[in-house]
Amino acid sequence: MATISTIATPAACESGFVLPAATIAGTPVRARGAEDTQDTRGDAHRATPIFNASTGATIGWQEHANAALVDEAVRAAHTALASWRTTAPAKRGKLLKKIAELIDADRARLASMQMLVSGKPPLEADIDVSDAAATFNYYADLCLDAKAFAPEALALPDDTVTGERFYEAVGVAALIVPWNFPMVTTAWKIAPALAAGCTVVLKPSELTSPVEHMLAEIINEAGVPDSVVNLVNGGGEVGALLTAHPLVDKISFTGSTASGKKVMQAAAQDMKRVTLELGGKSALIVRADADVERAVSLAVGGAFTNAGQMCSATARILVHDDVYRKFMAAFETAVRAIVVGPSQNTHVNPNATMGPLVCAAQRTRVQALVEQGLRAGASVAFLGSVDHACGDGFFMAPMVIAEPPTDNLLWTDEIFGPVACVKSFRTDEEAIALANDTRYGLVATVVTADREAARRYKTQLRAGLVWINTPQLIFPQACWGGLGLSGTGRELGLAGLRSYQELRHAIADVG
Ligand code: NAD
Repeated sequence: MATISTIATPAACESGFVLPAATIAGTPVRARGAEDTQDTRGDAHRATPIFNASTGATIGWQEHANAALVDEAVRAAHTALASWRTTAPAKRGKLLKKIAELIDADRARLASMQMLVSGKPPLEADIDVSDAAATFNYYADLCLDAKAFAPEALALPDDTVTGERFYEAVGVAALIVPWNFPMVTTAWKIAPALAAGCTVVLKPSELTSPVEHMLAEIINEAGVPDSVVNLVNGGGEVGALLTAHPLVDKISFTGSTASGKKVMQAAAQDMKRVTLELGGKSALIVRADADVERAVSLAVGGAFTNAGQMCSATARILVHDDVYRKFMAAFETAVRAIVVGPSQNTHVNPNATMGPLVCAAQRTRVQALVEQGLRAGASVAFLGSVDHACGDGFFMAPMVIAEPPTDNLLWTDEIFGPVACVKSFRTDEEAIALANDTRYGLVATVVTADREAARRYKTQLRAGLVWINTPQLIFPQACWGGLGLSGTGRELGLAGLRSYQELRHAIADVG
């Protein structure tokens, strides 16, 4: 049986692998009765399949943790807390730097695993690895600089006392992530949590957990002390056990808004600190003065990167009447030119720019939403194509819907697949009203040559991050997070560190 260290190639995966239910204090822990894991395929609570998204083949199995293992992992993190939170930030920073170096050195293997289980094209998989390394580097530098950890004096209107504010690690952090950017969402949580002095229990998505198993090995190899980072595996039932655990002090969750609501309710029980990065239904606005070629390129990237499985997908495209026909003609050419295909190793299609969806269930879900939307009055403007050579992988052709009614679910709901809607507008006020007509508020993109108009859009669009004439650039220095149903709290940046710290104050008599 292959181990996690050897599974990052399709050849090794052909023999199948079973990933342990948990990794506690650096030690993989198998589920009870796991010896016969492969004979229990029907039992979703013990092990679920991991797929090669490009071929549809089952390449391994992920065991699920039970309540006892979740408890053991949280207790291990709790025990490790006293020592880790008092470790000097500079020492934590050196370990984070080492993790960034090891990620970079292992780039090919990590990207290969992303491509295997998510079907990402090589460029997208490589960007994810770079993003993860950059995040560890950023928080390493914050730790090494130490300023972010120093107490700050308060100016008080009373010279008989002094005041200071200081920051302390929140405690044990439960980190729960989805499958669409497993390396990235995990790095965005683990790096600031460790920087802050929190110990963690991570629960990856059972569909893409091999990536996090590899990351956990890297963290171990970097020399992070045992029990500071622990892993429990499984689906929502394991996540729920984790969020309910009384020794968890902080939950950072990335996933759907529906699950986020349950997480928030669970957190309320013990008043756990909570950061929620949830769904979106974001807009891309093309003004009449826009460079249409650039607008098309940004629309393709915003809607079809990662086969549209992005919280930040700008799947509501608003185009000014004056450039609508020109935009649609160029958009159609670009969408028809998208090469949908497998990208992983032996199946490499060097021209593939869009991979498959993550699994059959996700494709079925997206297709059902599309059918529902079409029945309710939306119509397809044009479609890309899927080559027959794509075989049994979870592929789907990119699809563009024109002028759907504003109450159509394809316009209002997060589809999480390669489906974009286009609508025309006549005035900026109309475009902003249409863009803001949603309870989500994650991101927005504006394409315009007019800087003053861009400034107005930036302030009037209800979104955590607005891109102006750029692709979806994300830097660890800039925060990430949404308004409304897109979540609460911010990741990345200094705020990302602070989200794993308690802000405290002291006032002392000068005498
Ligand atoms: P999901 O909500 O089904 O699952 C996300 C994670 O939460 C998984 O690990 C899952 O096992 C776990 N989970 C599910 N129910 C839970 C519960 N009750 N308690 C605790 N944990 C639970 O989401 P998904 O389908 O894996 O991911 C897609 C969603 O994630 C989309 O809505 C997307 O917009 C969102 N997302 C948001 C961001 C962001 O930064 N805002 C980034 C990536 C993905």
